Amino acid sequence: MLWLKNARVIDPAQGVAGIMDLAARDGRVLSVGRDIAAGLPDGETAEVIDCAGKYLFPGLVDVHVHLREPGQEEKEDITSGSRAAVRGGVTSLLCMANTEPVIDNQALTALVADRGRRAALARIYPLAAVTKGMAGAELTEMAELKASGAKGFSDDGRGVQNGEIMRLALEYAKLTGCPIVSHCEDAALAGGGVMRRGRASAARGLIGIPGAAESVMAARDVLLAGETGGRLHLAHVSTQGTLAALRAGKAAGWDITAEVNPHHLILTDEDVPLTNSNFKVNPPLPTAEDRDALLAALADGLIDMLASDHAPHTWEEKARPFAEAPFGMTALETALAAVWTYLVRPGKLTAARLIDAYSRRPAERFGLEAGTLKPGAPADMILFDPDWEETVSADNMASKSANTPFLGRRLRGYPIKTWVGGRLVFDRLAQPPV
Ligand SMILES: [Zn+2]
Repeated sequence: MLWLKNARVIDPAQGVAGIMDLAARDGRVLSVGRDIAAGLPDGETAEVIDCAGKYLFPGLVDVHVHLREPGQEEKEDITSGSRAAVRGGVTSLLCMANTEPVIDNQALTALVADRGRRAALARIYPLAAVTKGMAGAELTEMAELKASGAKGFSDDGRGVQNGEIMRLALEYAKLTGCPIVSHCEDAALAGGGVMRRGRASAARGLIGIPGAAESVMAARDVLLAGETGGRLHLAHVSTQGTLAALRAGKAAGWDITAEVNPHHLILTDEDVPLTNSNFKVNPPLPTAEDRDALLAALADGLIDMLASDHAPHTWEEKARPFAEAPFGMTALETALAAVWTYLVRPGKLTAARLIDAYSRRPAERFGLEAGTLKPGAPADMILFDPDWEETVSADNMASKSANTPFLGRRLRGYPIKTWVGGRLVFDRLAQPPV
């Protein structure tokens, strides 16, 4: 038995926040509360950990991760991505289908799920593609893909350009009960841009992507969710126009959720250096006005959840000039620490809302057994030290890639132990910081 004493437990699913003990046995939470010793079985030996001054959170549930396997293992693979996940406090994740080949059939969906199980760290669940080869023309066999382990469907990385295909996808996905995860980007409007269009892109002489490239497709998909009654999840929301569409769709009672990525809450287009393509991401870093609106929407629940959009690329690819480098940032190992450092510590976001948005709500939306420390739940949890400081460094990451804009920054607040199913899968104390 594992007995964690005197932790500051935050578990929004139970409405719990306070100094408590937690006992776990056989991979599941046995008991949580004040003075639980009386209720524990007699004569059992327990590993006791004093957690005074530390938080105990349910493990994070990250619904937007690119693990790059199969086909791009030089950037990441399922094992390295799983190690990165548990270092960042992520105990369950959904991985995207834009691999090579695309995860659009039963065999590949099952393969990814199986390799995730064999890595035996975080729980890995595949999202399968909406269209075959992510070519945007022909729908995948969604019911079969769900039977092979898919938890939802997404052409993330590209988006479904054809409105009729998206309408059909929302219609068919209803039969599976799974959400369609929409990467909202009108390719014609995006027009080959490399950062958000505005003063900052003009000042740098870079081609800008107008906010409408996202908002127009978000509005389309919200309306199609309304028309079909399908389940829609908007990935990486980054503009006020998308928020307006989301607000209208939710007010109408349609089945829509949305996520925001930490980098869109912390950085803006003014932070983009011409010489560092680790700041190049899609959707691009927002204007300050959009960033402030996103944070308010996360705080008040209009945006349901946080997700990392961990998107590894090799050093060589990211060393290219800004306009030519690929889009994407690694984030699994820094998302929680960055949100804690830049949003929770300054009082812009509460710890309870952070855990609600990065654990309880995503588990609920995608039907995962995770996101809570209720008795009987899997003992997926993280011990979090709000004062642990580390400088973000490529030398100190499990991910094969280190294309994060936070390189060199000192972050404060890290998970120090991660358990999955009651098993300790990461211990920061055993790996001294750089
Ligand atoms: Zn995307």
